[in-house]
Amino acid sequence: MNQELKQAIEAKQIAYSPYSNFEVGAILKCKNGNIYRGCNIENNGIQSICAERTAFAKALSEGEREFESITVVGSEKGKDIDEECLPCGYCRQFISEFVDKEFKIITYDGKEIKEYKIDELLPHSFKLDK
Ligand code: ZN
Repeated sequence: MNQELKQAIEAKQIAYSPYSNFEVGAILKCKNGNIYRGCNIENNGIQSICAERTAFAKALSEGEREFESITVVGSEKGKDIDEECLPCGYCRQFISEFVDKEFKIITYDGKEIKEYKIDELLPHSFKLDK
């Protein structure tokens, strides 16, 4: 188990998810080696934020712009990880704004570590012509 995966599991344990009882942790690694941790933060409305976007918001608001990978794990509260937790559609679109084709999305199902590229998870992202 690599360091980012261990940290993602730790991040999962601080999730605030009283409504779904589903905890997600994410570790975003920048190309300069800096690490940002995120967990899902729910709300008694519709303004919940996913672990992936929490980690990106922390990094981006500190000036980071070059990203290497994000490791994402999730499970029901108090249970071991037994399936992979892929970013939701909203996070995929959000992530696609800030990463290059080599960026890795890393998941863990309790047994196996898997890696994806953003183009595999979101082959046709929305792009507004600038
Ligand atoms: Zn999401």
